Amino acid sequence: MKKSNPASALDDRIAPLEMGADEFRRVGHALIDQIATFLQSLPARPVTPGDARPIVRNRLGDRTLPQRGCPAEALLPETAELLFDNSLFNGHPRFFGYITSSAAPVGALGELLAAAVNPNVAAWALSPMASEIEKQTIQWIAELLGYPHDCGGLLVSGGNMANFVGFLAARRSRLSNDVRQKGIQSLEKPPRLYTSKATHTWVQKAVDMFGLGQDAVRWIETNDRQQMNSTLLEQAIVNDLANGAQPFMVVGTAGSVGVGAIDPLNEIADICQRHDLWFHVDGAYGAPAAALPEAADDLKALSRADSVAVDPHKWLYNPIEAGCTLVRDRRLLIDAFSFNPEYYSFDVGDDTEMINYYELGPQNTRGFRALKVWLALNVAGRDGYIRMIRDDIALARALFDRVQQSTVLRALTQSLSITTFHFVPEDLSTEDADTVRYLNELNRELMNRLQAGGEAYVSNAVVGNYYALRCCVVNFRSTLHDMHLLADIVEKLGREVDKEIRPRALQPADG
Ligand SMILES: *Cc1c(COP(=O)(O)O)cnc(C)c1O
Repeated sequence: MKKSNPASALDDRIAPLEMGADEFRRVGHALIDQIATFLQSLPARPVTPGDARPIVRNRLGDRTLPQRGCPAEALLPETAELLFDNSLFNGHPRFFGYITSSAAPVGALGELLAAAVNPNVAAWALSPMASEIEKQTIQWIAELLGYPHDCGGLLVSGGNMANFVGFLAARRSRLSNDVRQKGIQSLEKPPRLYTSKATHTWVQKAVDMFGLGQDAVRWIETNDRQQMNSTLLEQAIVNDLANGAQPFMVVGTAGSVGVGAIDPLNEIADICQRHDLWFHVDGAYGAPAAALPEAADDLKALSRADSVAVDPHKWLYNPIEAGCTLVRDRRLLIDAFSFNPEYYSFDVGDDTEMINYYELGPQNTRGFRALKVWLALNVAGRDGYIRMIRDDIALARALFDRVQQSTVLRALTQSLSITTFHFVPEDLSTEDADTVRYLNELNRELMNRLQAGGEAYVSNAVVGNYYALRCCVVNFRSTLHDMHLLADIVEKLGREVDKEIRPRALQPADG
């Protein structure tokens, strides 16, 4: 057996992971310099490393775990370069692919500071100031959205989790506490949840994970703008009630993930009121736009919801990860999540202002996500956020206008900051099935090449029968020039791809 350290060595122990103040300063300053240079270079870099998949895969080699460590001073600059050279940059001014924003640089500094102090925001006693900052962050997000600022809420990892928390609050509140004790099988009537066909897949995951099963979801049809049909919603509820089921929750969407559609939230709120159902709004993407004075009434109606999910790592421009759930009645989160284990004695007594966040959500140990969100809200202020969100919407509309003027592009949808369109060669205006099939193939290939090319990045949506290019502007770095450049690039690339693949695609197959 190996001898352990003699007592003297433990006296002046220097652990392999310790860093002295001087080393930390040196390595840290160098890293910050490197990051500053990287951020400055973003516009000149390709959005993606392009067609280099095998190269990226092999970059790390198949080294086994190193036996001996190496100094951080050498490791960090190399690691930074490895990431700068082999990443997709959602912070690039021409990244429009998904609803993933450019990350506010102050958020990166916030992550560093949060990790350095490392509070465990599970309990107030473990994170006094961090808990207070999270509480204020929740209040400020609610104020920004026009939601009651005395609501409850917490930060979670993202939109899916934020929606799960709203879902569980609804389940507890509308299906009784028996569900927590005896499970779903104790319900006399099968529970039913209503949402539109344009809703994000979190709904499927939620009914799966939390024991209701897919059959619990009533998928309500949408109109041609992908907004929920509220007449069909109420019919479905009435039908289920007549057939002995138990409606408990309606999920409305404020900014659908596909085309940015906003459901008729006012009508949905009325229906929920009439039938005493929980009204949850998935505002993961669109909720921050409710801050604009000129926002549509239906978007502002998210203020009527029992719970709202919003994603600070989307339209509040925070680094990933940050999701947030707001719940109108703050006690309901405790009802849904609180247990009092013996190993935790963080009794807050009558001090209702002292929050132990582990009692409000699924996580136990919790990081200090709130710091980056709070810092960004402080740095930009309400006015700054209104300006950034308004500009993003204006840029998406400018792209729509530019596309409408093109002879080879056709605009399809525009809502919030998402514009969809497709490439249609001048001589292919007919709409027979073969042509539509070809157009879709052409646009799919066009999108793939665009994504690999690295000049600009968009994703796709399905709009009616069409495969559409989808441009999401959640990006405070984008300018009007970038929108015009995107259209120019798509026009040019579209012509090239059409020329190349049409002879193959539209010719009758021989043999
Ligand atoms: C992005 C999104 C989600 C999921 O959020 P994540 O942060 O990716 O977990 C849910 N709903 C909508 C409408 C979204 O846009």
